[in-house]
Amino acid sequence: MSTFLGLVKEIPGISVDRFDGENLMSSAFFLTHCHVDHMHGLSDMFFMDLDVYNKHLYCSSITKALLQNKFKCKNSSIKEIDINIPVVVEYKLQNEEKILITVTCISAGHCPGSVMFLFERNNVSVLYTGDFRINPMDYPNLKGLHYYENSKLLPKTFTKIYLDTTFLSNDFSSFPTRKESIVKMSSVVRAWLSEDPMNVVILECSATYGSEFLFVELSKLLNMRIHVKNYVYDSYCRIDQLLDHVTNNPYSTPIHACKKKISQSGLFCRHDVSDINILTIIPSAMKWRGRDTSVVGEWDDVKKRTFNVCYSTHSSFNELSAFLQYFNALEIYPCVVKPENEIEIYSLLNEITNKPHQRESVKKEYKLELPNHKVLNDHSFKSKYFSSDEDSL
Ligand SMILES: [Zn+2]
Ligand SMILES: [Zn+2]
Repeated sequence: MSTFLGLVKEIPGISVDRFDGENLMSSAFFLTHCHVDHMHGLSDMFFMDLDVYNKHLYCSSITKALLQNKFKCKNSSIKEIDINIPVVVEYKLQNEEKILITVTCISAGHCPGSVMFLFERNNVSVLYTGDFRINPMDYPNLKGLHYYENSKLLPKTFTKIYLDTTFLSNDFSSFPTRKESIVKMSSVVRAWLSEDPMNVVILECSATYGSEFLFVELSKLLNMRIHVKNYVYDSYCRIDQLLDHVTNNPYSTPIHACKKKISQSGLFCRHDVSDINILTIIPSAMKWRGRDTSVVGEWDDVKKRTFNVCYSTHSSFNELSAFLQYFNALEIYPCVVKPENEIEIYSLLNEITNKPHQRESVKKEYKLELPNHKVLNDHSFKSKYFSSDEDSL
């Protein structure tokens, strides 16, 4: 759960992933993805104010589609930014000072439409990761975070990284890749469905949104759609990449991610299924705290017909360490901090970044390269997205 309060100290006048309180004084707004802990303050009224004061919210085009499904907002209030293409965003501070910043969206591999933002202004460059799951195999795809020198792709150095520290803990050192988790789930599902034609599967996902990659990939492997709640289906219909993998017809598929509350048992969308025909699969990272994640999945000790799978949409400790050792930053700000974990998080960040080979490179002066940019306006944004999200699976 994000504990970031929205204002980016190094870039005046913007708010990211937080839209209430003093953020309302900001002149430009940025949303990394549509999860509620990043959307505080968004409302019909917020979007009405954007229109009245001629301010804008910037995000990926999938995020825009999801926002338009949820809020009454003018098309012109939300501006899409393409992946890996730097754009110049212009806005005025309250004192009428005009500010120009270069903004690049980088695929965050967390959920459909999720992005990181790279903000560049004068000699300051700030990377805000939002929620992200990136492993070293993905680095070459993160074009916006590299520069070319003698035709070699080199990682940029940042003034500051605002980091998703959800799993910055020795208790979550590594996770299976999502592909490994999903392949494991698919083999368990296949075996269960082959036992009895009346058998069904419930995917017990902890939040309403966030498991979309799982739905798509599992649906592809099994060649079956996933039943989701009606209002979730309405949102997913706006995203081409999801449309073929979900359904709002409970009788058309044995795979269900439609549960209203985790505490409920049974399948409420159908009346022809008895409890002994239900297999529950619980994808979770939290449940695997401090445990051997090379196992990927195992049957629950207590609950009958329940299979737990280690599945994470956030980077593991090892993935975070690798990221911070590859992309240097002078400073790191943890965006997910519970009071009881604060000391641990800061000491781990120091441990990771104070390694001798880091000290050298952190001293390098950052030079802003102004890319081939275009000025943001109403007409210049048509996005092709998701391809790199899929690559990161
Ligand atoms: Zn999220
Ligand atoms: Zn269902």
